[in-house]
Amino acid sequence: MPMACVFCRIVNGEIPAEVVAREPEVTAFLDVQPLADGHVLVVPRAHVAQIEDLEPAAADALFRAVVRLAGPVREALGAAGTTIGINNGDATGQTIPHVHVHIVPRWENDGAGSVHTIFPRKTSRALADVGAAIRQATGAR
Ligand SMILES: [Zn+2]
Repeated sequence: MPMACVFCRIVNGEIPAEVVAREPEVTAFLDVQPLADGHVLVVPRAHVAQIEDLEPAAADALFRAVVRLAGPVREALGAAGTTIGINNGDATGQTIPHVHVHIVPRWENDGAGSVHTIFPRKTSRALADVGAAIRQATGAR
């Protein structure tokens, strides 16, 4: 575990954070630079940069925590919904290389867009070709 990792240090209680849930495998706390009131980060204990590096049990615990927290976060803030997302890899804007799931409360007409609005919709390949490539990479037929 790199001791310089701020999320590892929060998980281990070495630096303060506004923790909203602490479990053996998962810690959830408020983002110190919130996009909206109630912006929560949910992180696994394991210091791994990308979700594909998570062990299955850690992935299960992480997503179960996200599912369990989504409703209470929305209700606590009186929000209409939440946008839930992961920046997965340097090129995506992930700034801390420790997997973290954002839960951001949303309201009608809050000025933010959907996940779709972050993409310029630049595609060049046929769906069938892309599907075949992904199935081949996963070993599926
Ligand atoms: Zn870490």
